[in-house]
Amino acid sequence: MDILKKVPVREQDAKVRAKNFEEVCLGYNLEEAMEEAKRCLNCKNAKCIKGCPVSIDIPAFIQEVAAGNIEEAAKIIAESSCLPAVCGRVCPQESQCEGVCIRGIKGEPVSIGKLERFVADWSREHNIVPEKPEKTNGIKVAVIGSGPSGLACAGDLAKKGYEVTIFEALHEAGGVLVYGIPEFRLPKETVVKTEIDNVIKLGVKIETNVIIGKSITIDELFEEGFKAVFIGSGAGLPKFMGIPGENANGVFSANEYLTRNNLMKAFETDSDTPIYRGKKVAVVGGGNVAMDAARTALRLGAEVHIVYRRSQDELPARVEEVHHAIQEGVIFDLLTNPVEILVSEDGWVKGMKCVKMGLGEPDASGRRRPMEIPGSEFEMELDAVIMSLGTSPNPLISSTTEGLEVNKWKCIVADEEFGKTSKEGVFAGGDAVTGAATVILAMGAGRAGAKGIDEYLSKK
Ligand SMILES: Cc1cc2nc3c(=O)[nH]c(=O)nc-3n(C[C@H](O)[C@H](O)[C@H](O)COP(=O)(O)OP(=O)(O)OC[C@H]3O[C@@H](n4cnc5c(N)ncnc54)[C@H](O)[C@@H]3O)c2cc1C
Repeated sequence: MDILKKVPVREQDAKVRAKNFEEVCLGYNLEEAMEEAKRCLNCKNAKCIKGCPVSIDIPAFIQEVAAGNIEEAAKIIAESSCLPAVCGRVCPQESQCEGVCIRGIKGEPVSIGKLERFVADWSREHNIVPEKPEKTNGIKVAVIGSGPSGLACAGDLAKKGYEVTIFEALHEAGGVLVYGIPEFRLPKETVVKTEIDNVIKLGVKIETNVIIGKSITIDELFEEGFKAVFIGSGAGLPKFMGIPGENANGVFSANEYLTRNNLMKAFETDSDTPIYRGKKVAVVGGGNVAMDAARTALRLGAEVHIVYRRSQDELPARVEEVHHAIQEGVIFDLLTNPVEILVSEDGWVKGMKCVKMGLGEPDASGRRRPMEIPGSEFEMELDAVIMSLGTSPNPLISSTTEGLEVNKWKCIVADEEFGKTSKEGVFAGGDAVTGAATVILAMGAGRAGAKGIDEYLSKK
């Protein structure tokens, strides 16, 4: 065993998985997990805990894994996270816990994410479920949205004895975990459903098909006896470039493309709502969402190009996702920016006009500013384009809730520590507050909101 290197994790072969929707990463078995756990230095001043937005006691759970006490490890993780099988799969560990791991100074950091995933999967396979609190305090709290922020908030409040109801607009709970992130990265029936069921087992009720702002407003929730409300409604409104031809047939937002595949199973040949399968598809953007859309289009049989205006170093997607996309055969057209979608006479995409870009000085985001290279226009022949340029919060809730302050991007204004908004009794967190971010940050915000609500209601 080379102590400087992570124990390699088994994966489906790239050529095979590029043609199926089954999970790419196969995870560690007990032996591999124990071997990897022994690489942890069990630092006294554990930087990894500070690197984790929900402060999991990482060295403590890893020591239990090293000793083969997986149930104990699961209990330690459960104190801070209700979605460990999800986070072990999708968290950007390289910029969080693993990014500050002392083992990583000389060699590779401990594979914290894969160990978390192992513990969570082991718990599911061994039917370990959270204990429901013995009795409730009879105080009703409403949570809007069943994504990671809403689930984390609801779970923490239920543990404290509150009677929590989550109101979810869609017919299925889970937010982006079910409609955004594809099956090959995050299996729905096993992983996501089990972790949502664990939140329900704490006593949380989930009402689907309820759109707050349409079916019922926040003020009406208070009239119905809810004493506090947490808004975790995410950022589901897609952005477009505003270039000519963008409303042609065959141009999708990544959100629509992924939702139709994940939630409505459009990839299945007998689906009621099949999706248009292009032969040559461009995905514009470089984040996790772009990688997911590209790898989905690839699995539907297309030649896929990622078109991104900066270079590989600036790609915002997780390193693992970029690596997997390259392995599977996605083509990266970097330093390239679309200026027009070319449309056929019958209104369908037939190509895209692009320009080549250079990189200038760093901009406000700290990344080098992309600049057009004059005279570098060229055309790509295509039959579908997927725009993956980010999302913003839907204004439905803010426009139907008097006294709820939003900023210029329509994000709800809420304090970081407790999720407190400008409206009494209303708390918020996750993408609805920050704009599109990450699962673990949304969970952290949900937990902060639960703390804020508990403090507010205790004082009342
Ligand atoms: C394709 C894709 C891939 C991603 N990959 C990663 C990744 O690899 N790693 C990572 O950390 N993050 C990733 N993210 C980001 C991450 O998923 C989000 O940051 C996170 O889900 C935000 O959680 P949330 O609870 O704030 O919102 P969401 O997950 O968006 O959940 C919000 C929920 O609120 C519901 N809702 C909205 N409006 C209303 C209303 N009016 N009434 C009732 N319900 C409402 C929505 O239907 C939804 O279910 C990805 C995002 C996408 C889209």
